[in-house]
Amino acid sequence: ATPMATMVGSTISAKNGVLYKGGDVLEQARGIDVVVFDKTGTLTHGDMRLTDAVTVDAAVASDGGGETPTADGGRLETTAETPTVDEEFLLSVAASAESGSEHPLARAIVEGADERGLELEDPAGFENVPGHGIRATLSAGEALVGNRKLMTDNGIDPSPVEGTMERLEREGKTAMVVALDGELLGVVANADTVRESAKETIAALQGRSYEVLMLTGDNERTGRAVGDRLGIEPENVHAEVLPEDKADEIESIQTDGDRAVMVGDGVNDAPALTTAHVGVAIGSGTDVAIESADITLMRDDPADVLKAMRVADATISKVR
Ligand code: ADP
Ligand code: MG
Repeated sequence: ATPMATMVGSTISAKNGVLYKGGDVLEQARGIDVVVFDKTGTLTHGDMRLTDAVTVDAAVASDGGGETPTADGGRLETTAETPTVDEEFLLSVAASAESGSEHPLARAIVEGADERGLELEDPAGFENVPGHGIRATLSAGEALVGNRKLMTDNGIDPSPVEGTMERLEREGKTAMVVALDGELLGVVANADTVRESAKETIAALQGRSYEVLMLTGDNERTGRAVGDRLGIEPENVHAEVLPEDKADEIESIQTDGDRAVMVGDGVNDAPALTTAHVGVAIGSGTDVAIESADITLMRDDPADVLKAMRVADATISKVR
């Protein structure tokens, strides 16, 4: 693009809350085939809330019945209510262990426990297991909170809570297993809400024959449930992608000759934003995501991706 065309492009889009890092971006945004979205914090608000706490006993009891929870539900609703002693213990362990983590999943668990008036403890030891969960040393013992892999890697069989995990995941929630000293304690789950414009933006992109993919560290069932709500085909949901593998995913998409836009918000997304032909950061995302991106959406609105691409197309075609 000529400097003039570039200036026109950035002026128009800055007004619309889309910021370009440099003029080259408009060139790069040409001929895009694939638009890849991170799930949490990008297509969703990333404003997670604790929704469920199911003890292992309640999970086993409800498993025979399949979909439906036990009489007491074995669960907490979003409105604060007095949990039973066991749920209270489960939640205190999970929240105390997570108080060492900055992860949005962890913050939601801690907030949920606070809202329910539970006393939390600072862990004496704490370790992040990226992409899988956390390990913490509490007065009650060694706590683990995370996905199935975290459990099996530590010699714990999560199958007694599998039915409950699957039920929660089909609801689009992120379910996490809680264990103490090698024993299953139960499951906690968080729910997130999708951004208002996400569905129509995806439909519009698909209508303009872009392939739309979703990339998430979350498990496949949760990813597909959210994808289903947004009109993304199950095969276009790439789930359980480890933080260090997000960039490789983009690279393998692009090695097929496709040009990709990656839209993300997190520290995890930064290498993928750099690797993609065009990296787009959500404005309220982490600094490192914004630094790694070519474009920043100041209003956190996925619809602005479409706008940015239209501006690039219009600007480029003007100079051709
Ligand atoms: P995302 O980028 O989708 O949030 P992550 O790679 O950070 O995914 O995490 C992947 C999965 O690992 C989560 O869905 C969750 O099951 C587990 N996990 C990660 N961090 C934590 C944590 N602090 N507490 C519990 N589970 C976690
Ligand atoms: Mg994210």
